[in-house]
Amino acid sequence: GAPPLLRRMYRIAKGRDPTSDNAPFRIMQWNILAQALGTHADNFVSCPPSALDWKSRRFRILEEILFYNPDIICLQEVDHFKFFERALKAQGFEGYFVPKPDSPCIYLPENNGPDGCALFYRSSRFELVELNTKILEVWKVQSNQVAIMAVLRDIISGKEFVVLTTHLKARQGALLASLRHEQGMDLLSFLEEFRQKRPSIVCGDFNAEPNEPVYEVMTNSNPKLSSAYARLNDGEELPYSTWKIRGSGEIKHNIDYIFFTEDQLTVEGGLDMPTEMEIGPERVPSAAYPSDHFSLICDFSFNVHQSFAL
Ligand code: NDP
Ligand code: CA
Repeated sequence: GAPPLLRRMYRIAKGRDPTSDNAPFRIMQWNILAQALGTHADNFVSCPPSALDWKSRRFRILEEILFYNPDIICLQEVDHFKFFERALKAQGFEGYFVPKPDSPCIYLPENNGPDGCALFYRSSRFELVELNTKILEVWKVQSNQVAIMAVLRDIISGKEFVVLTTHLKARQGALLASLRHEQGMDLLSFLEEFRQKRPSIVCGDFNAEPNEPVYEVMTNSNPKLSSAYARLNDGEELPYSTWKIRGSGEIKHNIDYIFFTEDQLTVEGGLDMPTEMEIGPERVPSAAYPSDHFSLICDFSFNVHQSFAL
């Protein structure tokens, strides 16, 4: 049988009281690895094929989601939306999907259609106010990357806020970094167009390490966003959010983020990454973890004093 899923430690943010009664909500950000890409494009040379068998892998993905019990789930590389929609609906979630315009999945054998971004929210906790989707533009031309945004109303507090998720252009190099830079700026103008000063959370697979221009754009523009994991770790970003071995070599870096408007929201805590020992020499995906990206999970609460009108 398969080993238990990798489990992570929960870190309480400095100066926060985990017993306080401020009704935090939990958000999960996760590139789940498209089935078509994982089996026919990624070349994960140390991953046992059985770990990539969709018949079991889909339930490992669901197990990871449901074990941590997030209230909002932001996923990338979703090429089986109907499966997750049906499974998560039974758990009380409403979900939306936006496919990439020309997904690489559709050119691969045994594909299940295009991959894209998905956003789910717990309907007992939130009401949908508005949903928007966007094909990100690069120098005013549509790219192959998308974003999905939900304006939600928290039923407990009555407060409205925005959750946006995306998956930026992959691969290394100066040109690709400048594409991501452009996509980041378009993402922020999309956010500005609809957020109307509401508290905002922007998460995704940005395919960019913290030293890339797009990270600077996200954290130093309007609105002013902060990285949740940097906030949890004394200003330091995670050492890795993905760690895999392809035929071309080992790749270990931090490219996934949860950004938030810090003047309006507080990070109460979040899940750490598993250690190198826990991950094991084969890295991920593996029998113990179903994607090459680890999920990011944070608890947020609304700040008491904030400058937005309801
Ligand atoms: P991206 O560069 O954004 O990459 C797409 C996906 O590939 C991402 O999910 C990324 O994962 C993954 N990826 C990154 N590095 C590798 C790697 N070394 N090996 C395998 N997968 C990797 O691509 P675009 O979305 O811009 O689309 C690619 C274009 O290529 C599309 O226009 C598509 O039509 C075209 N295409 C055409 C094919 C054909 O046969 N004609 C075949 C394939 C693609 P992550 O974010 O996790 O890094
Ligand atoms: Ca991938």
